[in-house]
Amino acid sequence: MTEQDNTPQGPVLVVGGAGYIGSHTVRLLEARGVETIVADNLSTGYRSAVTGTFEEVDIGDREAMDRVFAEHKPRSVIHFAAKCYVGESVENPSKYYRENVCYTWTLLEAMRAAGCEEIVFSSSCATYGNPVEVPMPDTHPQNPISPYGRTKLHMEHMMEDYATAYGMRTAALRYFNAAGAHPDGDLGEAHDPETHLIPLVLQVALGQREKILVFGDTYDTPDGTCIRDYIHVLDLGDAHLRALALLQSGRDRIACNLGTGDGYSVLELIESARRVTGHPIPFEIVGPRAGDPPRLISGGTRAKAELGWEAKHSSLDNILADAWRYHQKESAGA
Ligand code: UDP
Repeated sequence: MTEQDNTPQGPVLVVGGAGYIGSHTVRLLEARGVETIVADNLSTGYRSAVTGTFEEVDIGDREAMDRVFAEHKPRSVIHFAAKCYVGESVENPSKYYRENVCYTWTLLEAMRAAGCEEIVFSSSCATYGNPVEVPMPDTHPQNPISPYGRTKLHMEHMMEDYATAYGMRTAALRYFNAAGAHPDGDLGEAHDPETHLIPLVLQVALGQREKILVFGDTYDTPDGTCIRDYIHVLDLGDAHLRALALLQSGRDRIACNLGTGDGYSVLELIESARRVTGHPIPFEIVGPRAGDPPRLISGGTRAKAELGWEAKHSSLDNILADAWRYHQKESAGA
């Protein structure tokens, strides 16, 4: 397959395009000359991450979405607009069912009314729940254990039903641990509050935090700390372009993992961050975080077989190097 075959036709409406993974995907679309419209309510995204056409709207606002569809006439949608904190979803499931499930329903209804038929969306390995098999295949049973994971599974089911009943074509991309940043240092991962390991580790390297707390060292893994499959955000973005191009060529359903198949422990990640940054990065072992399985590693084969996708930017040191460049730039500008 050529780059041409893997490039979707525009215009593409990217909802949640001001967020972490969305903004990187928009960059890739723009670099291929695909007309792109970003719709985002800026609840967690950043206006500065969007350089092209921007609509500040809430995807749960049907009237506003009808206007966006009428004005820009997008051929297809890529959907990143969702809440993504497991802990918050346990404390406030109402927010997650409203913003992830209800708002997605509104988006799908606006798409139907506009005759827009293709949608690629961010699902998650959290839809699988506790692994019954590691590495985890694309066909792993889906038994999510958090409200967050359950809302993502509801979104998958809703789209499957819309595909069956209304001829929509849908791709559910189940991410493992999204990580890294754009190599130019302008886009990266910045959540508020920050809970993710890599940004926190780099904040320690920058001297913004005294140490990193390691959640548990008695897991059944070689060094006792949790193992995750870290996938570079540019590799994730590339998979969205490929999935959308495939839907546009007539394929009706795609559901696949996006991970590298390699797992790294928390301590290995800290070691890589020391290598890349040249800083010592002190850590302290504390108790485990509720709901963290010891190992989450993708064993999916569909992304390669069906999308022709392979991770190209996702070595751990490359992920850390790109994230480090972004965090240094951010802290210098702050
Ligand atoms: N983690 C940690 N200390 C932190 C944040 C995360 O030890 O301050 C661990 C966490 O237990 C998990 C891994 O780092 O094993 C990745 O966590 P993160 O929150 O980045 O992503 P998640 O796996 O929850 O999606």
